[in-house]
Amino acid sequence: MPLVLPELPFAKDALEPYISARTLEFHYGKHHNAYVVNGSKLIAGTDLETADNEEIIKKTAGDSQKAGIFNNAAQVWNHSFYWKCMKPGGGGAPTGKIADKIKADFGSFEKFVEEFKTAGATQFGSGWAWLVLENDRLKIVKTANADNPLVHGQKPLLTVDVWEHAYYLDYQNRRPDYLAVFVEKLINWDFVSSCL
Ligand code: MN
Repeated sequence: MPLVLPELPFAKDALEPYISARTLEFHYGKHHNAYVVNGSKLIAGTDLETADNEEIIKKTAGDSQKAGIFNNAAQVWNHSFYWKCMKPGGGGAPTGKIADKIKADFGSFEKFVEEFKTAGATQFGSGWAWLVLENDRLKIVKTANADNPLVHGQKPLLTVDVWEHAYYLDYQNRRPDYLAVFVEKLINWDFVSSCL
């Protein structure tokens, strides 16, 4: 099965008070799981049944006939990646290689934070904000709905989910507050560094 629901890398209540267990019960248990179930149904019996998640995303991107498969497969990938981007006791400024790279490509950590939060806050409707590597340079991008930087020649290093289901139970309409907390309290820089 190419589309699987991975174990969460932390307990459901581990990100409290910043992201509640109730949000994770819905976000992981219902939304993420539904993308796995629905995507798996759509690829059953097709030549994509034996492909891996990343291959499915790349092979169906931009094909309007396969938009259903792309949307579900990309959302499976995006969420599996998003969980790994957070940890209890995370956030704040990184150290080491990723810190140096951020300083080199954005000028300062503060500039990176500003760009990342702005991308998340200004994504109209549902989507994602990302830190990616493109031609060996760090860049902030935002994508709509299920779209993923992998199909735009970029390597994802960090993402934040800005679909309302990611924050509405805890922050209602205050997306900027959720983004601030994500940066200050949740980012798993060890994981981000491991992707660099
Ligand atoms: Mn989500």
